[in-house]
Amino acid sequence: MAQNLGNNAQSPEPLKVNESFSEKSDFSTLQVFQEMESHRSIADLVGLRNPFFHQIEGRAGPTVSIGGKDYINFSSYDYLGLNFQDEVAEAAKDAIDQYGTSVSASRPTAGNRPIHRALEEQLADLYQADDALVFVSGHSTNVSTIGDFLGPKDLVLYDALSHNSIIVGTKLSGATRKSFRHNDLADLENHLQQSRYQYDRVLIVVEGLYSMDGDLPDLVGLVDIKSRFGAWLMVDEAHSLGVLGDSGRGIFEHAGVDPRQIDIWMGTLSKTLCGCGGYIAGNGVLIEILKYQASGFMYSVGIPAPVTAASMRALQLMQQQPERIQRLQANGKMFLKTAQQAGLDTGNSQGYSVVPIIIGDSLRTVKMCNLLMEKGIFSIPVTYPAVTMQQARIRFFITSEHSREQIVYTIETMAALLKELQNQSFGLSEILGE
Ligand code: PMP
Repeated sequence: MAQNLGNNAQSPEPLKVNESFSEKSDFSTLQVFQEMESHRSIADLVGLRNPFFHQIEGRAGPTVSIGGKDYINFSSYDYLGLNFQDEVAEAAKDAIDQYGTSVSASRPTAGNRPIHRALEEQLADLYQADDALVFVSGHSTNVSTIGDFLGPKDLVLYDALSHNSIIVGTKLSGATRKSFRHNDLADLENHLQQSRYQYDRVLIVVEGLYSMDGDLPDLVGLVDIKSRFGAWLMVDEAHSLGVLGDSGRGIFEHAGVDPRQIDIWMGTLSKTLCGCGGYIAGNGVLIEILKYQASGFMYSVGIPAPVTAASMRALQLMQQQPERIQRLQANGKMFLKTAQQAGLDTGNSQGYSVVPIIIGDSLRTVKMCNLLMEKGIFSIPVTYPAVTMQQARIRFFITSEHSREQIVYTIETMAALLKELQNQSFGLSEILGE
């Protein structure tokens, strides 16, 4: 039995590492770490504070408390403000009483709880689909759905602005992967015309509302293309559920498309549904395959009952309280219009839940976030390499709970700060003296 492993344990003797490999076992020599350090030292040089990993006190709503101070919060995906509803919290507490906090193992092994299937049935109904399957993480839903049912003879065509989980899934699948220009269906069609015949199965992956740019795909056009080329269409609804359509059912409701024309609906429970996890809804055979083949389902713990219950209650509230969706849509439009009138660059945003303000270079963008914090506004930057060099931005996530005053104050503050910043040097080239 191991002894002395408590708090009083003495540091172990350093292992003798073969001299010629000593550097190879040192994490700090990894290129990825060196790059992080170099970004950090450039930020230190110009006096920027790390804009990430703030300590949030209490529940995050339209305002948030950080270090005892309240900020207007534009960094929450709780688009309909349901995380503040007592009914959602009550549903989670009841589920703890009934099922405990964890289901302890994967559902094939440890078994389904009735609440799992109840949520899946409601999600399937939402898309008029045969069935649905809920995974413990939204990210792994994409990774293991795309990754585990396609193979080397297949092709995945994904929008160039797709989320990391989509790209990781395509890499895992071993299929040939190609991105088409963002929202450019002519480019997509071109790829298919040139190479459809070389592949067995083809999967096209898009998002219902893009989280970087806040714009939407042409769903009608996509359905037409996928039908003509015998491809499957997968739509990630992470940012569009609860946001698009009169009753928040997402891009199909917004575009007036029959949801049964889409082969694979994917969504997350972490945003509008204020839980944690992801789902796939679609054809019964597909769901049956995923139940036994998707590694992120088969070999990962089932979603905890309290989270399942919270998301199920949130889904019901979304459908019972459409006024939340109307408020969110009005807020999004107002944020976009006010920003544009103030001369801010909102890129392609359509003014729903996501509006980026494009600043340009990364350092200036982080500086802007620091300055906004000083003015009581909490927002998060997206910098290179997540976006191209001159496209660094601050993303504003708008919810039904933001007030008109909060939005107007934020835009006015931002426009004034931007004017000041334009006259300052923050480009890498200036700092490095190039
Ligand atoms: N898809 C998209 C489009 C996302 O933006 C995200 C995360 N924000 C995910 C999938 C992964 O979801 P989760 O964070 O719930 O794991």
